[in-house]
Amino acid sequence: MIDFTNTADELASAGCEIAILPIGALEQHGPHLPMCTDYMVAKSVAEAVAKKLNAYLLPTLPISTSYEHKGKKGSVWMRAKTFYSVIQDIVLNLKEQGFSKVVIMLGHGGIFVSTPAIRELNADYPDLRVAKVDFLQFLGVPEMLKTLECRDNLHACEYETSLMLYLAEEMVKKDKIDGADFVPDVPRDFLNYCSIVKLSKTGVWGKPSLGTKEKGEKVFRILVDESIQYIEKIFSQTEGYFD
Ligand SMILES: [Zn+2]
Repeated sequence: MIDFTNTADELASAGCEIAILPIGALEQHGPHLPMCTDYMVAKSVAEAVAKKLNAYLLPTLPISTSYEHKGKKGSVWMRAKTFYSVIQDIVLNLKEQGFSKVVIMLGHGGIFVSTPAIRELNADYPDLRVAKVDFLQFLGVPEMLKTLECRDNLHACEYETSLMLYLAEEMVKKDKIDGADFVPDVPRDFLNYCSIVKLSKTGVWGKPSLGTKEKGEKVFRILVDESIQYIEKIFSQTEGYFD
């Protein structure tokens, strides 16, 4: 694996075929988790994946799209159309420099604009493959269902609290977890109509009280393993599909 702490000459001789761009978010994460939670998760999982795939790991983008956290100071985002261009500019830049495979790894589940952004790139550039891995897509895999008890994991929840207890325990305000559980009585789609801080009095969607460090270690391993399998599947099965 090569990252931005290496020299460009080291990258040139490392034989990395894949570039990985992890994307986080800067948003409120309830009373107990830091605003950099999605950044930490994206960075850590992408690092482990990059090591296994001998990839060029780009620095994690700390800000993306977080309209759904409007109303709580500290949450900062770009407009979707801006971020659409950010993703495409970075990927096309990598392509120009010889990377034909790029993986976008999303530590934040709300970056919906990444889907049309990469779909357009794959359709317009047949010699480029862009894969998108959204960690939330793995919440339904059997191993994850065995590990997590709550079925309403969305934000600052059992899933994210467990991961942060494993990755950066010192950043978790454990004394603030009590009373933070909150599952709004509406579908996730309601985040198109109002901010999460209006739907949940704690800014949480899920049950952080169920989070543990042990679950976090398992969830982390699942995310890494599932991401690698999914990336390999995309690159081995979709070549030429848009020709
Ligand atoms: Zn998050």
